[in-house]
Amino acid sequence: MSKIILSAAISGAHAIHDRVEKRLEEALEKYGSNQEIGFPNTAYYLPIIYGMTGEKVEKLGDCPRVMRIAENLIPPVPADNLWTPYLGPGLDAGMATLFMEEIEEAIKYIDGPNPVDGIWLGAADDVIMRERGVEFVDGTAPGFCALLGSAPEPETAEKIVKELQEKNLYIWMSAHYNGTTVSEQLDSIGIQLGWETRVVPYGMEVGSVVYSLGFAARAAMSFGGAKPGDYRKVLLYNKNRIFAFVMTLGEVTDEWYANAAGAINYGFPTIADTPIPEILPTGVCTYEHVVSNIPHDQIVQKAVEVRGLKIQITKVPIPLAYGPAFEGERIRKEDMYVQFGGNITPAFEFVEMKEMDEVEDGKIEVIGPEIDDVEAGSALPLGIVVHVAGRKMQEDFEGILERQCHHLINGAEGIWHMGQRDIVWTRISKKAKEKGFKIRDYGEILHAKLLGDFPSIVDKVQVTIYTNEKDVEGWLARAREKYRYRDERTAGMTDESVDLFYSCTLCQSFAPTHVCVVSPERLGLCGAYNWLDCKAAYEIEPTGPNQPVEKGELIDPVKGEWKNIDQFVYENSGKNVERVNLYSMMDAPMTSCGCFECIVAFLPMCNGVMIVNREYTGMTPCGMTFSTLAGTVGGGNVTPGFVGIGKVYITSKKFLLADGGFHRIVWMPKELKETLSEQLKKRAEELGTPDFVDKIADEEVGTTEEEILPWIQEKGHPALSMEPMLA
Ligand code: SF4
Ligand code: ZN
Repeated sequence: MSKIILSAAISGAHAIHDRVEKRLEEALEKYGSNQEIGFPNTAYYLPIIYGMTGEKVEKLGDCPRVMRIAENLIPPVPADNLWTPYLGPGLDAGMATLFMEEIEEAIKYIDGPNPVDGIWLGAADDVIMRERGVEFVDGTAPGFCALLGSAPEPETAEKIVKELQEKNLYIWMSAHYNGTTVSEQLDSIGIQLGWETRVVPYGMEVGSVVYSLGFAARAAMSFGGAKPGDYRKVLLYNKNRIFAFVMTLGEVTDEWYANAAGAINYGFPTIADTPIPEILPTGVCTYEHVVSNIPHDQIVQKAVEVRGLKIQITKVPIPLAYGPAFEGERIRKEDMYVQFGGNITPAFEFVEMKEMDEVEDGKIEVIGPEIDDVEAGSALPLGIVVHVAGRKMQEDFEGILERQCHHLINGAEGIWHMGQRDIVWTRISKKAKEKGFKIRDYGEILHAKLLGDFPSIVDKVQVTIYTNEKDVEGWLARAREKYRYRDERTAGMTDESVDLFYSCTLCQSFAPTHVCVVSPERLGLCGAYNWLDCKAAYEIEPTGPNQPVEKGELIDPVKGEWKNIDQFVYENSGKNVERVNLYSMMDAPMTSCGCFECIVAFLPMCNGVMIVNREYTGMTPCGMTFSTLAGTVGGGNVTPGFVGIGKVYITSKKFLLADGGFHRIVWMPKELKETLSEQLKKRAEELGTPDFVDKIADEEVGTTEEEILPWIQEKGHPALSMEPMLA
C-alpha cells in the first residue's frame, strides 16, 4: 500500500476511534452498561464484529471490549518518509474502522439520530438479508456496489446507477460529498429508491458502509456456512462469491480511505472518480485494489473489470434500461400512458410451439393500434402470441416459457406487468413512451430473452401482438382452449402413472440438507416447480438441480415411500435424512427449506391440521404466526407434525393421504380459503362432501384451538370422528 494511502487510512481510523470512544463513553453514562444494543431483527448481533471475532454485542457494556480489539488493530500513524510494500497495517486499520463504526451506528439506534429517517433505511433485517442474499447465491444478483458520495449533478448519478442496475448489481449508498448524496440526488429527480429496485439509501454518513459490509458478513455466515469468528472463511466467501466493490464519487477523505481499506479485506476493490493514489498490484483483491481518476461514463465498466465480474447479459434492443432490478417498480395510474388487461380490457399471453420452418425468427408484428395512435391514460386490448421452435422444444415447455413472460416484460424500466395467461395486466409509463418505447417492444423483449435465456430449447421466436378487440377475442378463445388442455393434461397425471419423480435441490445453497421430491401429485413446496417444470428444467440444464429419480420399489403406497427415493434423499441430504414419506406429515415428512407457500401444522385437540399461508401475518391456532412457524420448521429440517407445502398440494388426491387426507383440514386463513375456493369445492365434491369447505374454521371463528373446537363440533367436522392422528 503506498505511503499516502497507508497513512490516510490509519489517520482516518484514529479519527474515527476518538469520536466513537467519546460517543460510547457518553452513551454508557447515559444508559448504563446493561442497555441493550443492536440492529433491528437480526440474529447476527453487530454482524461484522460477530463474523470476524465471534463477539456477541448485546449490551452497551459489551462495546468497550470490542473497542480494545479495534485499538490493538490500529497501527500508529506512519512517519512521512515511511514507505512500505505491505498492505497489512492499512488493512488492519480498515477492519478496526468497521468494528468502531458498527458500534457507532448501533448507538444511533438508541441515542439518535435514528438511522431510519426519511429516505434513509438503515440496517437491513434478516428477512431482507435472506430474501436478497439468496439472489447472491443463485446468481440473480452477482453482488453490490457500495456507492459513496455524490455526482456533480443528479443526471450523472442517475446514469451511473442505471448502468449498475443493468448489471443486476445492488446499489448500496452511503456518505455525502459537497453537501449532498447520490441518494438525495436520485430522489430529487423522482427515481424510486428501496429494496424493490435494488437502489438502497443506507445512510448519509460514511459509517453506514457497515450496513453493506455487515450484509456481506451475514451472507457468509448464513449461506456460506462460515462460523462466527472464522474471519478467514467470512472474507474468502466474499472474495470468491460476492462481486462487490466500492465506488467513490468525490473527494476521498481519510475516513473514506479507512472504510475503503476495510472493504479491501473482503476482496472488494475501490474505484474512484478523483485522482487519488492507486494500489494496483494484486494481493488481497482479485486484480487491482484501488483504481482512480476514472471518468463517469467509464466508471461502471471499469469497476466490473477490476472486480473481475463476468456478466452475461442478453442485450435487449429497446430504448429503456433492462434488468431484474426494474422488476419491482410500480407504475401509478397518473404515471401511466397506456394499460392493457386488469379487468379493464381483455388481455392474454400465449406461447405455442411450431415446426422449425413455420417460425420466422425475429419477426415481430403489431396488429391494431400502436402507442402513438392512442392518448395518454388509455386502455387497449392485448394479445401477445409467441411462436417458438427448436430442435429440443416440446409441447410441455409451452406453459413454462409462457410463465416467463411476466418477469421478462417486467424487467424493462418503466414497464409494469402482472399475472399470466388471460389474467394479464400491464402498463407502459409516460416516461417509457417519451423514451420511445413502442408496443412492438414487448415482442423485442420476448424475442431477445427467450432466445438468450433458453438457448437449449429455443432456436426461433416470432411474436405477434394484437391490440384490436376482434383479433384479441378470436385468439383468446383459441388460447383458452389450450390452457384448458394443458391443465387437464397435468391434472390427469398421477404419481402411479410415471416411473420418474424429479428432485429439486436448488435451495441447498442455504438449506444444505433440503431435498424437494417433486411428483405429479405433489409439487415443490415453493409452488414454483411442479413435475413438468422439473422435467423441462432437466432438459434445459441436464446437470442442474432438478434430476430425474427412478421411484424404484414401492414400500408403502399410502405413505408414499419408495426405495430409490429414500436412497436418493439420503445421499443428497448429506446423509441426514434416511427416509421420506411423500404423503405424510406425521411420519418421516419431507424436509422444509424456507420457501414454503404454506405450512401445515398438527392440532391435537381438533384431531386435525391447520394450514397457514405466507401472506397471513396474524396468530394461528397452533400458537405461532407464520414467521415464527417458518423459523421452527425451515432450514432443511424434518419436523414431524409440521410440513411446508405448495398451495396446489392442498387439493391433491395425495394430500396427507397417510394422515387422513383432505378432511383433516380444520382451519385456514379466510383469504387462503377464498383464493382456493373453487379448487377446494371441487375436491370436497369429489369426496362426496360438498359442504365440507364450510366446516373449515378461519381467523374469524378463532385463532386458538379452544376457540375453534366448539365451532367445528357444532358443524360436525369429519376430523373429529376420524382415527386419532397421533398414533
Ligand atoms: Fe426447488 Fe424445493 Fe427450493 Fe422450490 S423449494 S426451489 S422446489 S428445492
Ligand atoms: Zn426453498
